[in-house]
Amino acid sequence: MKRTSLVQTQFLSAQDVATIVVEVGVEATLSRMADFIFEDYLRWQDFDKCARVASHSTDGVIELMPIADAKTYAFKYVNGHPKNTLAGLPTVMAFGVLADVATGIPELLSELTLTTALRTAAMSAVAARALARPGSRSMALIGNGAQSEFQALAFHHLLGIQEIRLFDTDPEATQKLMQNLQHTSLRLIDCDSIAQAVRGADIVTTVTADKTNATILTPDLIEPGMHINGVGGDCPGKTELHADVLRMASVFVQYEPQTRIEGDLQQLPADFAVTELWQVLRQEAPGRTSAQEVTVFDSVGFALEDYSALRYMRDAASELGLGQLVSLIPDLPNPKDLFSLIAPKAQVASHKLALAA
Ligand code: NAD
Repeated sequence: MKRTSLVQTQFLSAQDVATIVVEVGVEATLSRMADFIFEDYLRWQDFDKCARVASHSTDGVIELMPIADAKTYAFKYVNGHPKNTLAGLPTVMAFGVLADVATGIPELLSELTLTTALRTAAMSAVAARALARPGSRSMALIGNGAQSEFQALAFHHLLGIQEIRLFDTDPEATQKLMQNLQHTSLRLIDCDSIAQAVRGADIVTTVTADKTNATILTPDLIEPGMHINGVGGDCPGKTELHADVLRMASVFVQYEPQTRIEGDLQQLPADFAVTELWQVLRQEAPGRTSAQEVTVFDSVGFALEDYSALRYMRDAASELGLGQLVSLIPDLPNPKDLFSLIAPKAQVASHKLALAA
């Protein structure tokens, strides 16, 4: 019998991905990842899509996010546990897989915690390039936790934001951000309140973590022409924007069936009109239509961005020679003989002899 080929999976650890970002540079990584996301959004119809599968518990959620085109299947495992940081754990942790549709072989197994922060920021920038006022220079950044530096850098490098006004209920989180980004040319301003941070900003990014219907932004804070990048409201019962903020804006979403369940949009009736972003990127629907219009990107994170990010990391790892091959799938001389893996040694030896003969 012809021996089957050995199935090996490329594994990218958290350290491998960090090395990729350091080697390539954060700006280039965000920029290339944004290009990958943009390209994949342009071929929206090629993908078999569904809302993610969520398992809710008292303090958090664990989600599976699958998507596939004709060639490649991807999924991400991700959690969201806002109280985790009190126990010294990240709020969001993730890993994911790229698999070959033709055979089902898992080709890549990668960390996705760092990658999620990068892809979420790149996605925010892709949306803002289409929706924010051209020439936007200032942004309020509410929530200064794990995702925040990535959001700040994506808006700085990909949109030209020069000034960021910061607010977090935890002053140490803001100090950490300021320390981490002190080497950049960003003007970082530590604000005493959400209102102070938001006043006069061209763009407002909300990226807080709290399992509640929060009202980080209320209608009185919103100024004509603002673009709101709402990132932290991404789960049933976990929102950041007062419902009237959505009512006064044009609202853009990734994948409508998922955002209706998970986004800030969950607060509004099912017939509240929204536009899926891919339509704007393909120029099949209008984005911002005037300088006075308030736009909201109700980001929840969609599987397509993880597909794009995994694709990017696979290419970058191969260019840099990073990662290692692991045996997730058993090495079987005879693919129908899975039992040989656990058969007594003598039996395996005689079986191998018979195959060799
Ligand atoms: P984190 O726990 O590291 O940081 C969250 C920060 O929000 C903390 O510093 C906390 O003090 C602050 N915060 C909480 N309530 C606040 C309030 N009322 N006002 C101001 N600040 C407040 O979490 P993270 O990893 O940075 O994630 C932030 C949020 O983004 C989470 O809700 C997560 O689920 C969400 N997220 C969304 C996407 C997406 O694609 N849309 C992707 C990743 C994470």
